[in-house]
Amino acid sequence: MATPAPVVSNTHSPAHYDVIIIGAGINGMLQLIRLRELGLSVRVFEAGTDVGGTWYWNRYPGCRFDSESYTYIYSFSQELLDEWDWSEHFSAQPETLGYCNHLAQKFDLRKDIQFNARVKTAIFDEARNEWEIALEDGGQARSRFFITAVGPLSTPVMPNIEGMASFKGESYHTGLWPHTPVDFKGKRVGVIGTGASGVQLIQTIAKDVKHMTVFQRRPNWCSPLNNSRISKQEMAEIRQRYPEIFAQCRATEGGFMHIADSRKATETSPAEREELFEKLYRTPGFAIWLGNFYDTFMDDEANRILSEFIARKIRGRVKDPKVADLLIPTDHGFGTRRIPMETGYYEVFNQDNVELVSIKDTPIERITTTGLRVADRDYEFDIIVCATGFDAMLGSYDRIDIRGIGGQTLKQKWATGPRTFLGVQMEGFPNMMMVIGPHTGASFCNMPRCGEENVDFVTQLIRFTQQKGYARVQPTLDAENKWTEHVIKMADKLLINKVDSWFTGVNRNVAGRDKRTVLLYAGGAPRYRRRCEEVIASGYADLEFT
Ligand code: NAP
Repeated sequence: MATPAPVVSNTHSPAHYDVIIIGAGINGMLQLIRLRELGLSVRVFEAGTDVGGTWYWNRYPGCRFDSESYTYIYSFSQELLDEWDWSEHFSAQPETLGYCNHLAQKFDLRKDIQFNARVKTAIFDEARNEWEIALEDGGQARSRFFITAVGPLSTPVMPNIEGMASFKGESYHTGLWPHTPVDFKGKRVGVIGTGASGVQLIQTIAKDVKHMTVFQRRPNWCSPLNNSRISKQEMAEIRQRYPEIFAQCRATEGGFMHIADSRKATETSPAEREELFEKLYRTPGFAIWLGNFYDTFMDDEANRILSEFIARKIRGRVKDPKVADLLIPTDHGFGTRRIPMETGYYEVFNQDNVELVSIKDTPIERITTTGLRVADRDYEFDIIVCATGFDAMLGSYDRIDIRGIGGQTLKQKWATGPRTFLGVQMEGFPNMMMVIGPHTGASFCNMPRCGEENVDFVTQLIRFTQQKGYARVQPTLDAENKWTEHVIKMADKLLINKVDSWFTGVNRNVAGRDKRTVLLYAGGAPRYRRRCEEVIASGYADLEFT
């Protein structure tokens, strides 16, 4: 349970800090640790009642990593590496939340975090070069620097289906899961959504439910997680290899351990292709996605060959060919949307008590008091679960009224898509920094690996600004334009950016999110890192200090 930090007064003049951070997730916590090391006063505002961010909110059954656990650990403290044991190669949510709690306790973070504190507005005071932060409960605070560590997937979205509130049974969103367990035993359950969250939930509750109906709009390509336990001895070996593991992640485009095969699928013989695909299908984690022939990311034909292999696997695992057909995507290739990693997901559809309903052509008409209606058929449920995802990347910025110079809102600035410098700062919003914001190298990367670098970049920038006695720092418009153009150009080469998904900012449950936007940096973590290093080496020549 979180120790409550003193509440920011809403009756006295606002409390003042050097830095205010929004979010006490995995990156907000690290940012707090780093800024404390500079001797700065820092306040973190967190909407939840405790630390953990994603791992605090997503408590649904089956929620777990699909990053190797030992790549999802911060490397900055040897002591932390020495004392933390992972019990599985892909740890489940309770263990990861445990890691977050351990971090908070070890570094005594909670004393600087105010929980139950949702930020409503952040306004730059031009006269004082300070950010004025207002909370939804009326509390206020001011700071020289303002950092958003709000996470890319932290604004859950309910489906825009009529009658959502009318259902009289229990209903849940995977991203807002209750802290007390939900009992699925003997219940009739309807699940809407088959992304990574839906897949994890469905395969986990299938053994408990009386009956489950899965409502699938567009199927996703899923592949086996191949998870297993880590023995004490194996953990000791992993601990010895941490430097090697981190170095390997650093060398890859996405901060994972999987290294893309430098051959082209299109120039390799069918037998060689089959051999690699088979091997990767049995390899734990994202190997089949990130360790595959590199042209599967860029070339339609290479991607088609891989997609065909996965389709065969699905057909081999699902008994009813009609159901198998429904589960095989036809509107996008393998890996062009985020791959849900599964453990027995396809076999769930061989169970007599599980029904797959395709709502691709006949959407859910409405939610009723007893369930929902599709194409004149009424389904009755005790529980409805919406695994309908998030207003990715932009949602958490949109719900805060952020105003920079001249009262310009961030929403106005980003009306046609994000415009940033390195995904860290925006022209017109001095002293505001984003951690894992849109367009950072960390946006399409194993979070803690790139997050750690992102936090270090922000920390160094604040240190530089403070040491030089500057009151303001922001990018030049030219630097912002050049970076934004570069991000858009990089996106062009990947098939991912030619498909509707949260990667490309499309979410038809949210007004104004029906067009593709470049949210992620597709140039790879090493290229992004090099650019950050150049910026530092140039004495931050792309930035304007006042
Ligand atoms: P998601 O991938 O956006 O999936 C949402 C699902 O809900 C999709 O199947 C979508 O269908 C469906 N949906 C949305 N609105 C609907 C509507 N009105 N009617 C019917 N269906 C609707 O969301 P997610 O599964 O929560 O995953 C989001 C991301 O979180 C993942 O891609 C991943 O990056 C992260 N995540 C990670 C892990 C992990 O690390 N292990 C686990 C879970 C999630 P359409 O596809 O047709 O839109």
